[in-house]
Amino acid sequence: MCGIVGYTGPREAYPIVLKGLKRLEYRGYDSSGVALLNAGLKVYKKKGKVADLEEHLIGKDLHSNTGIGHTRWATHGEPSDRNAHPHISPTGKLAMIHNGIIENYALIKKELISKGYSFSSDTDTEVLLFFIEDIQINNHCSLEEAVRIALKRVVGAYCILLIDQNDPETIIAARKGSPLVIGIGKGEHFLASDASPIIEYTKEVVYVNDYELAIVRPDELILKNLGNEKVTPYITKLDMELAAIEKGGYDHFMIKEIHEQPSTIQDCLRGRIDAQAGTITMAGVEQNIDKLTNAKRIIMVACGTSWHAGLVAEYIIEELCRIPVEVEYASEFRYRNPIIQEGDVIIAISQSGETADTIVALENAKEKGAFIFGVVNAVGSSIARLSHAGAYTHAGPEIGVASTKAFTGQLTVLTMVALKIAKAKETITNEKYLTLLQELEAVPEKVAVILQQAEQIKSIATLFDKAGDALFLGRGYNFPVALEGALKLKEISYIHAEGYPAAEMKHGPIALVTETLPVVFIATKDSYHEKIVSNMQEIKARKGIVISIITEGDAISPTLSNATFSIPAADEIIAPMLSVIPLQLLSYYVGIAKGFDVDKPRNLAKSVTVE
Ligand code: GLU
Repeated sequence: MCGIVGYTGPREAYPIVLKGLKRLEYRGYDSSGVALLNAGLKVYKKKGKVADLEEHLIGKDLHSNTGIGHTRWATHGEPSDRNAHPHISPTGKLAMIHNGIIENYALIKKELISKGYSFSSDTDTEVLLFFIEDIQINNHCSLEEAVRIALKRVVGAYCILLIDQNDPETIIAARKGSPLVIGIGKGEHFLASDASPIIEYTKEVVYVNDYELAIVRPDELILKNLGNEKVTPYITKLDMELAAIEKGGYDHFMIKEIHEQPSTIQDCLRGRIDAQAGTITMAGVEQNIDKLTNAKRIIMVACGTSWHAGLVAEYIIEELCRIPVEVEYASEFRYRNPIIQEGDVIIAISQSGETADTIVALENAKEKGAFIFGVVNAVGSSIARLSHAGAYTHAGPEIGVASTKAFTGQLTVLTMVALKIAKAKETITNEKYLTLLQELEAVPEKVAVILQQAEQIKSIATLFDKAGDALFLGRGYNFPVALEGALKLKEISYIHAEGYPAAEMKHGPIALVTETLPVVFIATKDSYHEKIVSNMQEIKARKGIVISIITEGDAISPTLSNATFSIPAADEIIAPMLSVIPLQLLSYYVGIAKGFDVDKPRNLAKSVTVE
């Protein structure tokens, strides 16, 4: 899941690589390191964040025009200096960084040990590097050829960058499963796991595909497949600005991204929805409307927060389109030989578009003939390319590890998709359709109203001061929001939290209720409102701390709550896009009060490119 950066050209490589690593740090921050080519190869690495490496390198000779850098999210071997990348080959001539997992590394390692090699780290990466050099030496072949031979034996996922002290202007790169973008400058090239380290230098990029190998020099980019045939690089123009990936005056990316939601939701709706004309324009849906309306079943495949968006969409699609929907964890779906039949549509939901489990789940389903519709934020990402059709969420780069604006973007897209299918299937009345279009158009403004009251959440956050656990309860469309609220709190404040359907809590979690247990009710006005008010009574009777997210004007819930937060009224189908906002703020303020690094929570990384 780590971040990878590389540079070759006339400029100093180190500052570019370091800045790139800072931008990619959301992908992992167990350790970081750089390898620089000047007169010889220099490798520096350090456990901890990129800032620790930077400090460690003060005063060192960092002059170089070709360099690679890595920020790690450990999979094989504890976070430590010695397991940090780049790794160095036995002769000391090659350095390599890697994002991914070499699944058959143990077997290769055994072979190499029997040949007399000894390793200085516990990583799978070092094994691959030794293997490459061993092939190069024994076959008397070029490094490029050795990489090709080695990768044909490798099982797993990788994006690797390799440099060789005997070829000081060249970076060799290859990918399968883990992302790689190459930026094309004038007499220089930039390599990275995503476009954020590249954008300030060039907008022309090539997204490298699986099983491709790139030979990158200052004025040359050669792309080949593993069969040594040349592939024409497909140059894409980046559609993002540098400001979009910087903090813009906020203390953290997470709070910046929470506050961006009025504009990101607007961006997602822009050019698509026109409530007055009663239209939604989505080419990916229109071109495949028969497949979508005739779907016998829709299967949502996702992980984490995206899975919660899928659950909300299940409720919406079943209600509006009358199509059966299943929501699957990608990690389970890919391994359990699921039944995929003709007429099944898979909706894949992923912020990064690089989620490893989701990618493999889709590949399996595609092979079995399913139609894949991607709901992805990162343009040009693997899932976007794998899907038959799709719709981007247009939330912009999400840097904070805890997903916020991507979630509301996913809900916006999925609601529009549901409305389009329902309209085409005539399972929705025109009146309801038009009402929901107007409601959708009003969401950005309502989110802005909620955010104006963000300070109120700060004081609600104090109710979590002594909490070791928390419960989040909701019904109907707000049940997945309860799950999302609990996940956010776990991620950011390390408080154990559970989301539950409010009525289900009597079947177990109510046993946890004590005077110190905060119970957050997502109790906006909907068809179940009276029922959830009864659930509030049940918690209050047991002296739990009741916190309720309610619709403006609700007079009953405040009498049962220790604290309430009101949000503007909305149709229950739209309500999750609003009710989730105070929960995002709550996790942020609880995390801040505890002094945690909310942008880089413990053990987590942004885009989960390992299974
Ligand atoms: N498997 C490698 C390691 O543990 C790379 C992990 C990553 O992608 O961050 O060092």
